[in-house]
Amino acid sequence: MKILVVNCGSSSLKYQLIDMDGEKKLASGIFDRIGESTGAGGKHVYKPTGKEKVEDIVDIKNHAVAVELLIKTLTDPNIGVIKSLDEIDALGHRIVHGGEYFSHSVLIDEDVKKKIKEVSPLAPLHNPAHLMGIETCEKLFPGVPQVAVFDTAFHQTMPQKAFLFAIPYEYYKKYKIRRYGFHGTSHDYVSKRAAEFLGLDLYNSKLIICHLGSGASVTAVRDGVSVDTSMGLTPLDGLAMGTRSGNIDPSVIEYLVKNVGMSIDEVMNVLNKKSGLYGISDGMSSDFRDLESEEADNRNEAAHLAISIFCYRVAKYIGSYAAAMNGVDAIVFTAGIGENNPMARARILKYLEFLGVKVDDKANNVMGEDRIISTPDSKVLAAAIPTNEEIAIARDTKEIVEDLKN
Ligand code: ADP
Repeated sequence: MKILVVNCGSSSLKYQLIDMDGEKKLASGIFDRIGESTGAGGKHVYKPTGKEKVEDIVDIKNHAVAVELLIKTLTDPNIGVIKSLDEIDALGHRIVHGGEYFSHSVLIDEDVKKKIKEVSPLAPLHNPAHLMGIETCEKLFPGVPQVAVFDTAFHQTMPQKAFLFAIPYEYYKKYKIRRYGFHGTSHDYVSKRAAEFLGLDLYNSKLIICHLGSGASVTAVRDGVSVDTSMGLTPLDGLAMGTRSGNIDPSVIEYLVKNVGMSIDEVMNVLNKKSGLYGISDGMSSDFRDLESEEADNRNEAAHLAISIFCYRVAKYIGSYAAAMNGVDAIVFTAGIGENNPMARARILKYLEFLGVKVDDKANNVMGEDRIISTPDSKVLAAAIPTNEEIAIARDTKEIVEDLKN
């Protein structure tokens, strides 16, 4: 079974074609700058597995044009990886927000689309783009089943004490204002993989998963389900991220509006796009690697501060989730920084020595796939496990499509 995983952003479309027989990636790619005016430098990067990467500068007026080009590329006699479109058995769409409607992945029908639209105010940049992608694919892949996989679904198991904000209850009842959490596909995949790799019984375990990429979140996974997570109503809450502030006193917003004269849109733009590592480093970079080399090579104070705040926040979340679960069996790092940055992992875990965590410096510095980075006598296991959201989406899609047939 071949599955096309699609992730539509407002001006981008990422894809991966996976052969589920052996879970082999056949090709992946991204369309960037969709919709910008002619000549604005739209780009298609296509990576067929085992062959040269192909980059094209093309104007991509809308998502439909991107999908048409995608089909043409995948079936191209020279660079394509399939002979015809009929080889694609199903599509899996990544959807950022499912509100309280979806605790699992679902086959897309009119009702599902209606609900994705209904919760769009909670993810105004993402959900409308996902819908556009779904409708485009419905037209261009007629009769091919399409599945929606939600970033929020895994966290629907959180208890009220974790997902409610301490504001009037009626705001939850009337407006569904609550913590939803994101990166659910990754936290779900990594927690399952971690339990398997570490020899733990997932259904009788306390795991803390740290997804540290340019967006970052921490989740407490008890007995296989999410019981708390750091992102909130939107992905802005929680950790300090590449450009997002993470949690702040809401009065900061009032202060900036009333005393600095900023509009609410300006403030939200700063909190989403100009804060986090980028903001603290005074605009130096939102990329951890840049800051790490500035700190190491030039002893740059701003870079040092940004890294320190990032690591301190992650450690505080781990500490609080260990308390929330009354213990922790394993702390697991994933995504760009979590998988690849030994320095960040070591700095974070240093704060957690009181829990009995001991880092094995040698193991922590080895790059690669699934790894244990704690010493054999560490009271809590620590590990780095690469995430794979595309495979997780493809697996869910396959399961749903197979159920359809039975
Ligand atoms: P996203 O998918 O949210 O865009 P990623 O998971 O790719 O983000 O993570 C991006 C972050 O990971 C950046 O801060 C980058 O510096 C860091 N990162 C990625 N690869 C490496 C690496 N090989 N070594 C150190 N840091 C890395």
